[in-house]
Amino acid sequence: MNLYNLTIHQAHQLLKSKEVSSVELTKAVLKRIAEAEEKVRALVTVTEEIALLQAEQADQRIRAGDFTPLTGVPAVIKDNMCTKGIRTTCSSRMLENFVPPYDATVVEWLKDAGLVMVGKGNMDEFAMGSSNEHSAFAITPNPWDLSRVPGGSSGGPAVGVAVGEAIYALGSDTGGSIRQPAGFCNIVGFKPTYGRVSRYGLVAFASSLDQIGPMTKDVADSALVMNFIAGYDPRDSTSVNYPVPDYTKSLIPDLNGLRLGVPKEYFVEGMQEGVEEVMRTAIAKLEELGATVDWEVSLPHTEYALAAYYLIAPSEAMANLARYDGVKYGFSYEGESMWDAMERTRQLGFGPEVKRRIILGTYALSAGYYDAYYLKAQKVRTLIRREFADAFERYDALITPTSPTVPFKIGEKVDDPLQMYLSDVCTLPINIAGIPGLSVPAGFADGLPVGMQILGKPFSEETLLRIGFAYEQQTRWGERRPEI
Ligand code: GLN
Repeated sequence: MNLYNLTIHQAHQLLKSKEVSSVELTKAVLKRIAEAEEKVRALVTVTEEIALLQAEQADQRIRAGDFTPLTGVPAVIKDNMCTKGIRTTCSSRMLENFVPPYDATVVEWLKDAGLVMVGKGNMDEFAMGSSNEHSAFAITPNPWDLSRVPGGSSGGPAVGVAVGEAIYALGSDTGGSIRQPAGFCNIVGFKPTYGRVSRYGLVAFASSLDQIGPMTKDVADSALVMNFIAGYDPRDSTSVNYPVPDYTKSLIPDLNGLRLGVPKEYFVEGMQEGVEEVMRTAIAKLEELGATVDWEVSLPHTEYALAAYYLIAPSEAMANLARYDGVKYGFSYEGESMWDAMERTRQLGFGPEVKRRIILGTYALSAGYYDAYYLKAQKVRTLIRREFADAFERYDALITPTSPTVPFKIGEKVDDPLQMYLSDVCTLPINIAGIPGLSVPAGFADGLPVGMQILGKPFSEETLLRIGFAYEQQTRWGERRPEI
C-alpha cells in the first residue's frame, strides 16, 4: 500500500512501531503532491521545508516516547487559518502576500501534538462558495471526474485528503464548507457544535456561523483530530468551556438503542434520483445496525433556512471584510487620494463572489431594510433552532443527504449564484442552528460519491461519531480512492 493512502491511525501504528519514520511518510506525501498537484491543484502553498523539519522533530519525539496519535502525520490546513510565518491567502488577491505573525489556536494545538504541515489548501475566496471555482488562484477539480467540481469552500483540503496529498486536513464550515466537499470527494467531514473548536486565527467570514473541523479518510480519524482541536480557548469569546471527552471512546460498531429521524424536507425537490436511492439504502443499513428509524419527521422551517443564511452570512461578511481597506492588511493600491486608494484596493483585491456578498450584506443591513431583512432572518434563525431542539427531544440524531446532487460540472453553476446557493440547502440549516453535522461516504450514484449527513443536538459529537463509525464499519464506502 502507498504510504500516502494511510489513515491517521494506520500511520500512527507504523510510526509507533518504528516501521516507518515520519520523514519517510512525509517524503511519500510530498512526492505524491509533486505528482498529483499538476492535475488537482489542491494546494495554494506547499510547505516542503517546514514539513521535513517538523517530521524530523516528530521522529525525535517518537524516539523519546513523547508523542500523540497525530505526531509526525502529514496534514493540510485550509488557507484561511493563520499559520505563523507562512502566507495565508484565503485564496484571495487581497491576502496573496499576507504572512500572519501568529498561529490560529487549532494550528498551535496541532503543533503541540506534533503537526507536520505539508501545505495550505485551496478554497473559494474567503470561504464564499460551494465549488472552489471562486478561488482567485486555481480551480481544483474533483478527482473522481476532473470535469466536475470538488465542492467548496474547503475543496482543496478535501481533494488533498482524497488523493493522498495529506493524511488529514482541517477545513472550516460556515454553511457546509467541510461537509459538502467531503461528500463530493468521498471522505469524512465533521462540523462540530458552534463554540466547540476555537475560531481564533480563522479568517472571519460569518462569525456566528464559522466553525473549524476535521476532514479525514475515516470516522476514527475525525475522532482523533477532534481530541486535539476541541476545547476552551479564552481568545475566542464564543468558545464554550465544556469538558472535552475522548472522542475515540464513541467508536462503537452498533447502533442499539439509538432513535433516528429522517426529516422529509431534506429530500428536496430537484434532488437527484441516484442520491435518494443511495440514502434509502444507507438508512436501511442504520436500521439493520440496531437503530430505530422514523422516516416521517417534519422540520417545516427548513425551507426558510437558505434565505435566512443568505441574509445573515453576507451581513456578517460585509462587516468582517471592512478591515481590508488597503491600510492594515494585504493588498494595497496606491491611489491618488485616500478614497481612491480604498476603492481601487477593493475593486482589484476582491473577486466577484466576495463583492456580491458585500453588496448583499450592505443592503440587508441598511437603514430602512434592516427590519425587513436582517432582523427577520434572525427571527427565522430562532425558529429553526427551536425546531431542531424539539426534534432532538425525540431523536438522538437526524439523517439527511449531505447534498441533493452528486458533484456538478465545472462551469455549470458559476454564473448563476442562486443555483450555486441551492447546492447547500441540506447543510446551511445546521450552521444556522449551531448544531454539529458529520458527513460520511454513503455510496455512489452514476459513479460519483454521495455523502450522508448525520445531525445531532449541541455537543452530541460522540453520538454522531458512533453512528458514522458503525455505518462505515459495515459499508466501507470511504475506502474507495479516486484514480489520479
Ligand atoms: N457555500 C456556502 C457559502 O457560499 C457555505 C460556505 C462555507 O461554509 N464557508 O456561503
